[in-house]
Amino acid sequence: MTGCVFCKIARGEIPACKLLEDDEKVSFLDSNPLNPGHTLVVPKKHYETVMDIPGKELGKLMEIVPALARAIFNVTKAEGLNLFQTNKPCAGQTVPHVHIHIIPRNSRDGFSFGWRQGRYKEGEMEGLRNELIKALGVKL
Ligand code: 5GP
Ligand code: ZN
Repeated sequence: MTGCVFCKIARGEIPACKLLEDDEKVSFLDSNPLNPGHTLVVPKKHYETVMDIPGKELGKLMEIVPALARAIFNVTKAEGLNLFQTNKPCAGQTVPHVHIHIIPRNSRDGFSFGWRQGRYKEGEMEGLRNELIKALGVKL
């Protein structure tokens, strides 16, 4: 897709510190890392979000994540690691080309997701599950 920064990196039109790459996917260091070693894994074909990419292609993207995670974890001497994935601006997506973040973590990095977990009202969870099952086309 013209104008998409990750398509341009995939096509080699703009430089990136690439790690693993094949015909279908490319991984490279994030230019504004949360911590050094922060890496992005990107399909070469343009899909905006995880709702758009076929499951098989997402599976292929994920195939290289464990090897990357091990290398990043060991080389950066991280204490932990997050996989992170954003879809749509309200969820923090700034580049509308689906990607997986691999983020090495340490206890001093001061980064927090700040999750405030909620609670369901009586019956709400079961009702929602029924709607989701219907949307998934699963027969009860
Ligand atoms: P998002 O905010 O969409 O989840 O993640 C997009 C990521 O892409 C950001 O962490 C940002 O730093 C990174 N990024 C944006 N433009 C470039 C670029 O041109 N090169 C590299 N290496 N990373 C980029
Ligand atoms: Zn793209």
